[in-house]
Amino acid sequence: MKSYFADIILPLALAKNYTYRIPKNMEPYIQVGARVVVPFGKRKLCTGIVKEIHEKAPSGYTAKYIDDIPESKPSVNSKQLKFWEWMSDYYLCSEGEVLLAALPSAMRLGSETKVVPNPAFDGDITSLDKKEQLLLSLLVDREVMSASEVGDVLGVKNPQRTIKKLIDATAILIMEDIKKGYKPKTESFVRLTEECSGEDGLQAAFRSVSRAPKQEELLLGYLQLMGIAGEEIKEVSKAKLIRRTGTSPSHIKSLEKKGIFEVYKKEVGRLQFNDGTPTNNIELSQVQDRALKEINSAFAQKDQVLLHGITSSGKTEIYISMIKEKLEKGEQVLYILPEIALTTQMINRLKAHFGDMVAVYHSRFNQNERVELWNTILENQRGKARLILGARSALFLPFSNLGLIIVDEEHETSFKQFDPAPRYHARDAALVLAGIHKAKTLLGSATPSFETYFHAKNGKYGYVSINERYGGVEPPEIESVSLKSTDESGYFTPRLLEEMKGALSSGKQIILFQNRRGYAPVLLCNTCGWSPECTRCDVTLTYHKNQDRYLCHYCGSRYTAPPQCPACGSHSLRLAGFGTERIEEEIPIYFPEAKIARLDLDSTRSKHAYANILSDFQNGLIDILIGTQMVTKGLDFENVSMVGILHADLLMRFPDFRSVERAFQLMAQVAGRAGRKNERGKVIIQSRDPDQWLVKKVKEMDYLGVLEKEMIERKEFGYPPYTRLIRLTFRHRQIEMVDYASSEFKKVLLKHFGEGAILGPEYPMVARIKNGFNKNILIKFPRGVNPAPLKSKITNEAGKFFASKEFKQVRLIINVDPY
Ligand code: ADP
Ligand code: ZN
Ligand code: ZN
Repeated sequence: MKSYFADIILPLALAKNYTYRIPKNMEPYIQVGARVVVPFGKRKLCTGIVKEIHEKAPSGYTAKYIDDIPESKPSVNSKQLKFWEWMSDYYLCSEGEVLLAALPSAMRLGSETKVVPNPAFDGDITSLDKKEQLLLSLLVDREVMSASEVGDVLGVKNPQRTIKKLIDATAILIMEDIKKGYKPKTESFVRLTEECSGEDGLQAAFRSVSRAPKQEELLLGYLQLMGIAGEEIKEVSKAKLIRRTGTSPSHIKSLEKKGIFEVYKKEVGRLQFNDGTPTNNIELSQVQDRALKEINSAFAQKDQVLLHGITSSGKTEIYISMIKEKLEKGEQVLYILPEIALTTQMINRLKAHFGDMVAVYHSRFNQNERVELWNTILENQRGKARLILGARSALFLPFSNLGLIIVDEEHETSFKQFDPAPRYHARDAALVLAGIHKAKTLLGSATPSFETYFHAKNGKYGYVSINERYGGVEPPEIESVSLKSTDESGYFTPRLLEEMKGALSSGKQIILFQNRRGYAPVLLCNTCGWSPECTRCDVTLTYHKNQDRYLCHYCGSRYTAPPQCPACGSHSLRLAGFGTERIEEEIPIYFPEAKIARLDLDSTRSKHAYANILSDFQNGLIDILIGTQMVTKGLDFENVSMVGILHADLLMRFPDFRSVERAFQLMAQVAGRAGRKNERGKVIIQSRDPDQWLVKKVKEMDYLGVLEKEMIERKEFGYPPYTRLIRLTFRHRQIEMVDYASSEFKKVLLKHFGEGAILGPEYPMVARIKNGFNKNILIKFPRGVNPAPLKSKITNEAGKFFASKEFKQVRLIINVDPY
């Protein structure tokens, strides 16, 4: 008799997948892509995904049996499995690590997963069986239990199904969500009472409201909304009813008192499908229309197109036209953009066009929301979630027939995930994902990454450009001023203040960009020059006035101020430099009347803070918005006439070969926020040297000039796009060990690579973080050489090297395309 086995991807950083035996009774319905519960290690169960089913017993160990299949239909489709495999091969990580990034944690319950009662559960246990009810009551007593404890008390080996059922019934929650402050969303709905439902009842109801026009309107409005639903039974939310009829909650109360309406609460789907009617009319300008036609004809030849359109040229409107076409063909569309650009404004813009077809996916979603969206997409129903607007992790959703992927702001470095593995770049991964679906990829940017531009110019991608703003508004006028012209203590040049004054007096809004959060980046001893550093990292501390603490921006450690200089005893200490917090504090000295807000990591920690600040700015409740990089991304505000870049020199200090590219992109992007509609905007760039080359280039908006010069250097020194890079980081508590391991491993690498292909080992700018030392080796591959065999040499050698007793304690972090 034949035995069947399955290779299972487990949610762990294992070097390989393990093979399990399929019990006879599961054979008929086990499928590739299904979730299974398997034993791993001692007494541990975890949820994994079936990757392959075959008849080969594993060699070297005896296969254990699969314990359970929570549901027989696959949770992951074959295209996803292909994508995972590519990602693990390309980025040199395990498929398990990809699974961890891809699958919502509620779908991969393990013995360690902790569950808690849902405080908002309505107590309706009618849908639960005995076992589920028992568990719920136990859990209410104990407050928290791990899945393995649940198994113990229920006397079952595998409690996953019971747990899942209770999660679905919203009776319990996964601990992770509690930590994130998850609150289930309930909404009030309205329905007719039973007495009023029939023909007679309804007539009586109308009689009883005949003297109260508002109530009558409400009743009519309700029936109309029900009518729209046609055959199916539809529910009418209280908020919607009030909105549609222009009545108030008190009118609903009156109908409740009269026994006509009944209000009930219900947990609603949290995907927030829009219930508004989509508007379908965009009229593209001639320029946009030309660009759209060019994109389409480029797509006839090529699978990738770069849309290089200056800020405010109306790229989004072009995307919308393309999306519409794909959706009409019944294909799915994925639109990814940097997390920070995923604003309510952007979401509403798309919802206005696509209504229920749009779903949003980002990292602030809780587990239940993730699972809900996952299943909706997996089922691939026609009307729902056909267009996904999301941050980089949306790549992992279970698409089955993508027709188009749009990567907006494709130059954004935040598309790269640095920690943990998989250390993928969402733009590059999107290109591969599109390939798997035979879909097209549209990359959009005002300042394309240099490699994307390179590929477009070399004919690998199609290239379409737009050089004018929508509505013919001229690009902003940019002026560069010297920071030397500020008064002694100041940070604000007379030109900046003058322009700000002008803007404010004509009722316009201002954005000030300073790429440093906190109050002041250094505390300095006036006598000996000492400044405080983190005890765990090689970093000077930033003063945060709000908290009156000195913070390490690498590890988050907090310190109090020293009363005097610990080096020389001097009491004369001063805060040097300007962070956003300090600017926020000083601007009122010049503009006491202006309403000011700050947009940075510190001011946006709570869940809605970011959205609130942006909507206040949109609604004119803020005159001056001060912020870090956050203000440079994709914001579209009509009334902003002026942008100030407060200290351009700070932007040019990135420690890698991309420094110039990035500084240019940041400045050009933030400048593009000025004067988007109607009137030409004004930008002031403050720097130490107003005549320096890069600032001049920003002034001239000379993207190509910067690119050309950079490309010459990259070619000469062998940097991307002329080469590919892999960075190996060695990490250990002892610096000697890091030195030793990295230089020994370099010797190993030299067996396979030429001397010139390996840079380092070298300490990074910050060598010590959280008391661990880091040292890097950078490996360069020429472009055009297949990197796969070279990569497997690295992993094979690393596997052997770090298995040895000597180097076991050293951590190796592999980062493919690290910059
Ligand atoms: P980009 O993404 O290229 O920076 P946007 O798509 O945000 O530019 O467009 C800039 C502004 O111009 C937006 O406010 C947008 O609503 C408006 N706009 C662009 N194209 C059109 C159009 N065809 N019809 C009406 N408004 C448009
Ligand atoms: Zn001192
Ligand atoms: Zn630190």
